[in-house]
Amino acid sequence: MPIASGHFIAGKQVPSCNSQTFASHNPCTGGIVGYAARGDALDAEAGVSAASSAFKAWSGLPPSERERVLLRAADRIEQSAIDLIDLLIDESGSTQSKARFEVNYTASLLRTAAGEARRLYGDTFPNDKPQRISLVIREPLGVVVAITPFNAPLVLLAKMTAFPLAAGNTVVAKPSEETPLIAVRFAELLSAAGMPDGVFNVITGYGRECGEALTQHPKVQGIALTGSTSTGRRIGAIAAAGMKRVQLELGGDNPLLVLADADPKKSADIAAVGAFYHAGQICMASSRIIVERAIAHEFAEALTAKAASLHLGDLRDQRTAYGPLINSQALARVDSYVRDALANGAELLSGGQAATGLTYKPTVLWRGKHISRPSCGEVFGPVATVYPVDDLEAALALANDSEHGLSAGVLTNDLVRGLTAARRIRCGAVHLGMHSFQSDTLAPIGGFGLSGIGRSGGKYSVAHFTELKWISVELGETPNPF
Ligand code: NAD
Repeated sequence: MPIASGHFIAGKQVPSCNSQTFASHNPCTGGIVGYAARGDALDAEAGVSAASSAFKAWSGLPPSERERVLLRAADRIEQSAIDLIDLLIDESGSTQSKARFEVNYTASLLRTAAGEARRLYGDTFPNDKPQRISLVIREPLGVVVAITPFNAPLVLLAKMTAFPLAAGNTVVAKPSEETPLIAVRFAELLSAAGMPDGVFNVITGYGRECGEALTQHPKVQGIALTGSTSTGRRIGAIAAAGMKRVQLELGGDNPLLVLADADPKKSADIAAVGAFYHAGQICMASSRIIVERAIAHEFAEALTAKAASLHLGDLRDQRTAYGPLINSQALARVDSYVRDALANGAELLSGGQAATGLTYKPTVLWRGKHISRPSCGEVFGPVATVYPVDDLEAALALANDSEHGLSAGVLTNDLVRGLTAARRIRCGAVHLGMHSFQSDTLAPIGGFGLSGIGRSGGKYSVAHFTELKWISVELGETPNPF
């Protein structure tokens, strides 16, 4: 029986003002998981108005009260794990283990954010005027709009909203049109945990129809987007025009360096997770694997064997490595990426075609020949390209030959070479001894270049979604200049 879901505004589900709905599909079966409200500018107005009305009371609560609500929300998430996991599998094509990871990590994000509610530290500084005392305090911005993608729909919704909420902001979230139902479920759990009405709202629908209206709304002071670079450009321009604080977490084109001293087989196992987890639909996926020539062939053979051994099938089967791409356009895009690479000198070592339905085979490409433009942008599919290189200098030059700069990994046992690489790779994160897909609730997540602006996570999100205010106090008489 398909779920019928509304927007979540001021503590309850409501239909769209225009009564329109749209279907949320199961990418594995093609069936309809449910129908969500299809928002437009009027619904955006209602969401922002609810958030704006709730701001004074929420921001005025003692931090311990905001902490309490977020901690209870984490408990609710864990208590609802079975339902949430089912919905994540059905609506987003997650495997059981990826869905479980999302639920656990969401609870962890909420608990980390709860702690941040007590840490809105300010500052003081010495004044040249001896009779003056200066204080610097932090205040929430007001209404923050959070726009999120389909690939980790629960975790990214929590990551973009829990920290702004902890800091005293109120939120209107706009989830991906591919995954609206999980977002409304999240809002209901927050509400059941005691989140006051209007503090957390969800408007479902399409970016152009309701997302833009939200970002353009004059009562919105902050925008948090996790999405593609092209959406980031559009929202960044809207934010600039409205002088709104904006955080953009965008696409990646991430390098994994495998240095000559690394074990080729173990490295291939790590690289396979980095490249193929959730069918490569991870912003930090290790899609460019740059290997020192001494072990490049052995590494590529091991990665090819690993790719061929991956089990694709029932998402609830523990053996299944990954599931489908989100929709048929994504499948066509990934396939055309592979065709383009093959037409431009790459060699196919494994995969290179759909398996069944929207599932694409784990694909390994070998880029042995010189190519003038090695980085072809984000693939967002289960495709790993292996680039043999002569030495560390060549590896670093290739790693940095990208307009993106989200995350990187370096596999080596040589700490000096590893740290040298970490210092020189232009990415928001570099992980030694691991692939590029890593997360931590306290880490500053974000990228260089086209991978975005700002950092999210822990105190970094709180800093981003608060304003600093200087308050000065004159303790004595100050002579007037006239
Ligand atoms: P997308 O950019 O198509 O959509 C993201 C969200 O933006 C959706 O909710 C969509 O409806 C909304 N949107 C689109 N156009 C809009 C507009 N004009 N105004 C307002 N909202 C608009 O991205 P996607 O396909 O859902 O997700 C995949 C992308 O997200 C990839 O590029 C991936 O790298 C990126 N991503 C980045 C991170 C990170 O942390 N850097 C994490 C996950 C995903």
